[in-house]
Amino acid sequence: MINKQDKRCVHCAHCTKQNLTKSEIAMSKKYLGRSSKTLLCIDCLANFLEVTSEELIAKIEEFKGNCKLFD
Ligand SMILES: [Zn+2]
Repeated sequence: MINKQDKRCVHCAHCTKQNLTKSEIAMSKKYLGRSSKTLLCIDCLANFLEVTSEELIAKIEEFKGNCKLFD
């Protein structure tokens, strides 16, 4: 049985921040694995990767245009 994912319920698995942006979802998939059901907001993902949110945001800009996840 396939459960269609409700996009409105996308939230950070760590701080439960709601309505993650496309970029946050794409970054989660990129760093946690495409099949991972765990999604993190930028702040939690930065924490997890031990980088700053600013560095991660710079990465997003870098990935846009050369990664399909960021279309
Ligand atoms: Zn979070």
